Amino acid sequence: MLYKFLLILISFIIILACSNEVESVTSVEPKVEPNFSEKPSPKAKLKERIKEIKITESKSIYDLENEYDTSNRLIELGWNKPTEKSPEFAMTDDLSLAALNSVVEGVSIGTEYLGNYGPLKVFIIGSDIDEAKIVAKEFCEWARKDNIEYCINKDQGIEIVEMAIYEGNNGFAQHSRHLEPPNQSFVMGNPDKSAVKIAIHEYVHIYQNAHIVDGWWNDKEDYVGLPRWLEEGSAEILARYLVGDYADYLRESLNIAKYFKRDNPNISIRNLENEEDLRILEKKDCLGGHCVGTLQYETGAVATALLINQTSMDYFYKEYIPKIAYLGGEKAFETSFNITINEFHQIFDSFLDLSVEEMMSFLDKYQE
Ligand SMILES: [Zn+2]
Repeated sequence: MLYKFLLILISFIIILACSNEVESVTSVEPKVEPNFSEKPSPKAKLKERIKEIKITESKSIYDLENEYDTSNRLIELGWNKPTEKSPEFAMTDDLSLAALNSVVEGVSIGTEYLGNYGPLKVFIIGSDIDEAKIVAKEFCEWARKDNIEYCINKDQGIEIVEMAIYEGNNGFAQHSRHLEPPNQSFVMGNPDKSAVKIAIHEYVHIYQNAHIVDGWWNDKEDYVGLPRWLEEGSAEILARYLVGDYADYLRESLNIAKYFKRDNPNISIRNLENEEDLRILEKKDCLGGHCVGTLQYETGAVATALLINQTSMDYFYKEYIPKIAYLGGEKAFETSFNITINEFHQIFDSFLDLSVEEMMSFLDKYQE
């Protein structure tokens, strides 16, 4: 009896096993029904995603200004509004009138497009060290009048004298919001054939920072204003556009940004938004260039160009940037471009995988 029972049990198990097998075999067979819906290619998908970046119908800067009702010292002092005061220029005696004129020309091209912000003083440094010390003191008395000695002996005063020693033709901007009254300045060394472009670039920083007003819109510590890649990228893109060099600079930047990404696949402009990553990157040299420098200038310029291409030059500089004063950096970005900064990073990462020609033909506005 037990033997018969076992036999039945074993055959039952075998049938069960066989049936399982048969079933599993049929399930692997392809379904006969054809599927006509084609999957979009990655490029088509990317184009759809890029279309998400667009001019929004959010409140205009005009509406925001009229609704403003919170007390903010800088807004009340007119920091984010054009000023009647003309920019002033101080220059070391060893430089020529032509040097001065090229910087004046850059500032006037910048103010013509963006408006006149300040009050602004511009300091131009040649290669005479004693002369540079005199202008460095003048800079400190204007921009750091709360701490003149420290400025001369330990801070920007030293940087200015070094411009003369190394005959550098770099520039830097200073935004002295905390002073009474607040003021702005930038310093340029040894003007050369790029002086007009560099002066516009520095002036764009003056304009950007006129719309950054102490983070009163929220109490978060991680205040962004403009992300670093967008601050530098948009300063350089506008400078190149206004001197008629937009298309060439864009192509050059696309090449550099694309190959930088290929050689350093784990590093992106995203890393510039995080203090910890930034400190590591500052000490590092990436393949194909200096990490932070390449990311914030060339890659930042391509990222800026994508935002401008999907909206417009005027919208980017005259609607989005002024909104930062009223909405803060993150919200101004989101309400202006219809996507968050994070979503932008995802789209931009895939964008850089296109070929240089594809990117160039995609970014077709303003290239003529
Ligand atoms: Zn800059």
